[in-house]
This record gives sequence, C-alpha cells and structure tokens, in this order.
Amino acid sequence: MNKKKLIVVLIFIFVLIVSCFSKEFYPDIRPGDGVTDFKWLSDYFPGIKETNVDTPVYIMSGEATGATFLLMGGTHPGELAGTVAAISFIENAVVKTGKVIVIPYSNLSAASIPDLTGKVSHFLPVQTKSGKRYLVFGDRRTDINDEGIEDPEVFVHPSDETEYKGDESRNLNRNYPGEENGTLTSKLAFAIINLINEENVDFNLDMHESRTPEEYEKSNSDYNLSYSLVCNPKALEMGILAMLNLELETGINVKLEESAKNSRGLSHLEIGNYTNSLSFLSETPNPAQDPSKNNPDPMYDSKYPLKHRIGIQLEIVQMLIDSYNMLFEEKLEVEKIPTYSDLMKYGFEAYLN
Ligand SMILES: [Zn+2]
Repeated sequence: MNKKKLIVVLIFIFVLIVSCFSKEFYPDIRPGDGVTDFKWLSDYFPGIKETNVDTPVYIMSGEATGATFLLMGGTHPGELAGTVAAISFIENAVVKTGKVIVIPYSNLSAASIPDLTGKVSHFLPVQTKSGKRYLVFGDRRTDINDEGIEDPEVFVHPSDETEYKGDESRNLNRNYPGEENGTLTSKLAFAIINLINEENVDFNLDMHESRTPEEYEKSNSDYNLSYSLVCNPKALEMGILAMLNLELETGINVKLEESAKNSRGLSHLEIGNYTNSLSFLSETPNPAQDPSKNNPDPMYDSKYPLKHRIGIQLEIVQMLIDSYNMLFEEKLEVEKIPTYSDLMKYGFEAYLN
C-alpha cells in the first residue's frame, strides 16, 4: 500500500471511530418477521435530522391494504411497560391487512440519559430468548444538553392556554402539536404530527405509565390514572367499545377518561385535534414512579410486575384494533400480538428476541 492510500485508509478509520462515539444512543431492538421497512422520524421532518431526538420508526405492512395504526412507546422512557410493549410488538407481531407504524422511543434523547431521580439504573439486564440483553430506563424529558437552551421559569404552551413548570418545556407530552421552528422538543412533536398526516394514520396509541393505585391513595386525591385509557373526544366511542371488550375478554378493568380540554400540549388531545387520527393514551401502574419508594423494582415488583403491565398495554392495542374493525370499513388485521395470559405465563422475556 502506498503512502497516499494509507492516509486515506487512516482518515476513513478515524472518521468511523469518531462517528461511532458521536452517535449518542442507539437502542437494542431486534425486529421480527413482521417488520417490512425501517425509517427515521426525520424522514417526515428534516428539521430534526442529525439531532438526538431523531428516532427509529418501524413499518409493519400487511399484504393487503387497509387501516393504519401508529403505536408509540417511550414518550417518557422511564415508563418501562410502554417501551417494552412497543419492542415486543416489533419483535413478534405480523400484520396481515393494513399497516402498523411503531416508534418504541418517541423521545430518544430522554432515553439516552438515566432517570434523574436516580432510583433505577439506566440499563436493566434481562435474560431473553437469545441470552442477555438490556432494557433502557431513561428520563422523563429531553436531555437539556440536546435541547441546547436553559429551561424557562414557566413553560407556557404556545396556545397561551396552559402553563407548566419550566422543565416541562422538555416534556414531549406537553409540546404537541409542536412547532416547525420551535425548541428541539417542540420540533419532535411537530415531526410526529407530520408522520401522522403523511402516513394517513387512522388511529394511534401513546403508551405511558403512572404511579401505583396505593400511591394515589396516600396522596388523598380523587385523581388516579394508574389503569386508564385517555381518549380524544372524537375517539370516545371507539375507546368505550375497546374497554368493554377488554373487560369481557380478559376481566381487566381499565378506566376511561376523556382528554381535558384545558391541559394543552398532550398527545391524545392535540394529535386528535390537529390530524384526522383518533387518539388514545394508556397508563399502567409503575412502582418506579412512586415518590415514596426508594428502591423500586420496575421489572419484578410483586404486585405490579412488568409482564402484567405489558400484558395490559398489548391487550389495549388488540382491543383498539378490534373496535376499529367493528366501527370502520377499512380493516387492520394483526397476528401474534403477545396476549396478557401468555405474558403472565411465560414472562415478558419470552417475547424478546
Ligand atoms: Zn408518561
């Protein structure tokens, strides 16, 4: 090899090493046979390209055309059932008719940093079908270093209708419908809205977790989100049908809530109002979100184990699909979504490749 060639090779290796280290965070997802295409969220809005909120988008298309469903996890990456339910879907489900689009880490920047309460490790080892792999337990908000600006004193939603604590300016689920020229988190919300419009998403679910019922009781509040499905007012009929079916088929009782119109910026309200997509948000109880617990176990808690919470999230997905098919002509048919009873029997590890 001559000198010139050697220099070219060395530069190439240097660039490769630098790019490996500068790539901030890439989650471990091992797609199953159902995944037919892969995109980045920036394909729908170049304004987030080469930022740490750009995130993988998995496309699962059936052979026959039909309805389109968007499934989101990781808006708050410490809400483990949301991310792992999305990953289990990507790794197991097969779409026969229609299309499912899955974003397992809706806020990838938030997933790239550990939970700032410091109670849970950033990476949680699990034994899966192919051996040891790690689940990600991230923070609730975009990394402030990625956001690139200081938090305001008070975060006023661009509608001027709702005020939140300053750091909520980095909470994806306070930033919808987002702004093309807004903050990084606002651009992230805008990109998701663009995807929904471009892909003609018929209905969508944003999977979350909350405190446990006991913790709500302690705080003496009537407010209890722990097992709920929040519906945009336009999606109420479909939500009611899904919850009735869920109870009938599984005995699981999930409370139905309608989006509060005065809490601006939340996915179920804004996506439903700014797109043609029927919008839902689910909540299961996560012991790691209980302020009173010092050493919570987000995977193997005796009362609220991860398999139980993922099982409920995926049953909600199944019931939303079923009720969509009952109400509308265009169909969505998906096979091999792990069921609640199978998850309880075999554990969530059995559904990770
Ligand atoms: Zn959440």
